[in-house]
Amino acid sequence: MARVSLSAPVSAVAGGKTAKALRDGLGIQTVDDLLRHYPRRYIDPGELTDLDALEVGEHVTVLAEVVSASNRRMQQRKGTVTEVVVSDGRGRISLVFFNQPWRVEREFRVGRRGLFAGTVSAYGGTRQLAHPRHVMIPDSGLHLVDDGDDRESERDSEAEAAFSDLLIPIYPATAGLPSWRIQQTVRLALDSLADVEDPLPPDLRLEKGFLGLADALRGIHRPPDPDAIEAARRRLRFEEAFDLQVILAQRRHERLEQSATPRPPVDGGLLSAFDERMPYALTGAQVRVGAEISHDLAGEHPMQRLLQGDVGSGKTLVALRAMLQVVDAGAQAALLAPTEVLAQQHLRTIRSLLGPLAEAGLLGEAGQAATRVAYLSGSQSARQRREELSAIASGEAGIVVGTHALLEDTVEFADLGLVVVDEQHRFGVEQRAALATRGAQGARPHVLVMTATPIPRTVAMTVFGDLDVSVIDEYPPGRGRIATHVVAPREQPAHLVRAWTRVREEVEAGRRVFVVCPRIGDDVAAASTDEIDPDPGESPQDSPLSSVVDVARSLDERWLAGLRIGILHGRMPAEDKDDAMRRFTLPPDHADAIDVLVATTVIEVGVDVPEASTMVILDADRFGISQLHQLRGRIARGGGDGLCLLVSAAEAGSPARERLSAVASTTDGFALARVDLEARREGDILGVAQSGRRSSLRLLEVIRDEALVDEARHAAQAIVSADPGLARHPVLRERVRALAADDRADFLEKG
Ligand code: ADP
Ligand code: MG
Repeated sequence: MARVSLSAPVSAVAGGKTAKALRDGLGIQTVDDLLRHYPRRYIDPGELTDLDALEVGEHVTVLAEVVSASNRRMQQRKGTVTEVVVSDGRGRISLVFFNQPWRVEREFRVGRRGLFAGTVSAYGGTRQLAHPRHVMIPDSGLHLVDDGDDRESERDSEAEAAFSDLLIPIYPATAGLPSWRIQQTVRLALDSLADVEDPLPPDLRLEKGFLGLADALRGIHRPPDPDAIEAARRRLRFEEAFDLQVILAQRRHERLEQSATPRPPVDGGLLSAFDERMPYALTGAQVRVGAEISHDLAGEHPMQRLLQGDVGSGKTLVALRAMLQVVDAGAQAALLAPTEVLAQQHLRTIRSLLGPLAEAGLLGEAGQAATRVAYLSGSQSARQRREELSAIASGEAGIVVGTHALLEDTVEFADLGLVVVDEQHRFGVEQRAALATRGAQGARPHVLVMTATPIPRTVAMTVFGDLDVSVIDEYPPGRGRIATHVVAPREQPAHLVRAWTRVREEVEAGRRVFVVCPRIGDDVAAASTDEIDPDPGESPQDSPLSSVVDVARSLDERWLAGLRIGILHGRMPAEDKDDAMRRFTLPPDHADAIDVLVATTVIEVGVDVPEASTMVILDADRFGISQLHQLRGRIARGGGDGLCLLVSAAEAGSPARERLSAVASTTDGFALARVDLEARREGDILGVAQSGRRSSLRLLEVIRDEALVDEARHAAQAIVSADPGLARHPVLRERVRALAADDRADFLEKG
């Protein structure tokens, strides 16, 4: 047989139909893709599958023994039903075939064993696989089974392939492509594989005692024993981490080649004036992180720093101080926010923190130093926009706050020295990159990315590995404690009534309340404009989800009659949103004040209303863990304690309810992030699953494999710093080039 290389199309080793099923069902295009489609587990042909462990709805492949088989006529229609009961020695499951009575004789003699693949269903109290795909162990090599598709020889070799392995690999399969067909195709690929060049540098392989690539691939697909699987996995898992870290190390290296204008701190400038007027002392973490950023800004290479800090940890202040340092150095700083509400909030906060320091006409004018804060958003009038644009172009505006509108080509800065991106998870790198090219004369601006999504260190290393990371791990003093409770009206209807009573009491005590809903109403999903968690959980809804419009109406008419109720969602015109936020911050005796704001997750990030003490989240199971944590961070910001109620119809004990209990059990954002990430699939963490693309991570689990990621990072850095272009490692160079160019490296671009 002709030798095939890893880069050959999978059709080189698979028939047309199988190749198509591999492509369409599993995204497998090349022999390399196929060989990196690793078995999920292995079956010892001598051991039957534990049938009790099968769950309804699961797609399974089981090895079991025939206990009985019989044909009967269907009552309502013409035809026969064949029922076969198979067992693992204890548990049983039934297989059902239609109109294939001959199978009983030919295949399902009592005592025979086979592999059966299908989706588990429950039928009259027993579990069954309806018309499963199957292959029978050839007893005495004589009885070859037929799936009814008249391809005896193919089936023959499939059965042989399936059962000749010492450990039967079970692959992630699809309905149209059973595990044993993948097994057979893999075997063909391995048997005809040309010499494989190993991308791992030989020194490194030797040092770590790793198998070569070809041996590792054979070991994972056709292991002679369990130890062989482990050895293969060890190498392949390391390789996944290593490939990524090489890409990231190269990016970091490129950054060090770029130049930026240093913006060192200046004595007697705006920053010192600001520090003097600040009503409180910085926290220790703010001081430490501030110094890291200040040092970077003074450097000759563009800063690329991720500022991580839980909700309410005081990131805004840190960012503002960095911006002031840059303004003092004669340049401009831009603050980019993901939503209009948040941009406006930042504008208000920054203007009020700066006070007179933001009221100057011109930069560097005689008298008290001051600057101007400009604002840009998509919904401004043409006249407003022109004014702001000219202040930005002239350099009169030292600080520019805005939404995506800041990224448009028509926006020209006099000298952009720093870009701060708030809530990074809403922005792609493309957008960061668009701003990063705005520096004068080819010099790049410094970039500070702020995120309130706590990211475990290993994920940060994997996803943001080319950024430096600063962590604020301390809260400003005087923040209230938040008590969180799950309210399950289905079990305890009175609790929801009591919740609204509690809301009324809070308002009567002069405080504000958020009510959060997953939908806007009038059949508009909140997700269409506001950012709802893309994977809101699996709880089936038998009643429509709460919507802002409907909830506001029923609170107004009934539960909270007499209170002033406002609404806020992403579909409202910008001025209405701004107006709702403004009224929500007014003192209660003001004629325009709002007591209760019914909103979508548009309030999730950054919104800062010190008097807000209470939040009621309806259909809370529709939100992800970190999203709930973010939402909850909007209350108890003014010193008093807070109350957060998670209202949900999810059943006690269901995964959705467990998530809510986790949120109720702690306010530690990092602990919750771990729970969240562990519950999700790896691809979700890296943002891949959402885009429907395959991840290049198969075996690596970035949370569990923390030490390994670390190890790979060190190895990658050593190799890249000695040889940035990988001239001495051509195979590795080719592999990471292909990976980085591939869609699959896209998760590097997300975050
Ligand atoms: P984050 O953006 O990290 O969620 P903010 O920057 O909005 O947090 O800060 C949360 C609140 O804490 C704000 O009201 C802010 O004014 C206040 N704050 C920030 N730093 C301090 C500090 N050092 N001492 C007291 N309060 C602070
Ligand atoms: Mg903030």
